[in-house]
Amino acid sequence: MKRTLPRSGAYDLDSYLPEYLWRQLVRRQGGDHFTSFLAIIAEKKLRQDADEERSEFYEDIMEPNHDCLYCGYHMTSAEESRRHIQSDCPDRPKWDHSCLFCGLEFPTELGLIIHTARWCKDKPKKK
Ligand SMILES: [Zn+2]
Ligand SMILES: [Zn+2]
Repeated sequence: MKRTLPRSGAYDLDSYLPEYLWRQLVRRQGGDHFTSFLAIIAEKKLRQDADEERSEFYEDIMEPNHDCLYCGYHMTSAEESRRHIQSDCPDRPKWDHSCLFCGLEFPTELGLIIHTARWCKDKPKKK
């Protein structure tokens, strides 16, 4: 395979299409390549800075927090939280979807389906 660019014609579209489109766009807008290239770099840089700020911010709020949504009870794992909400929470509203087998309640039908299919301990086993 040749590593040099063909002079014209047979461009490898996958690698050159974006650049080609960009040149077309610049030409159509009557701008010159150098200025708009700078603009692109500046924009990229801005976006990067924004991303960095955002990720710091996210680290703060994305810190795993398993505290109870309803009563605020402090918990440290998703499992603990699930158990608390299912059985111990005094403030949890009643949910509409309850398991036929063990009586646990779920806020969504999907939650109930997943429970019944995978987690329910009282579900009769298939023979
Ligand atoms: Zn609670
Ligand atoms: Zn169940």
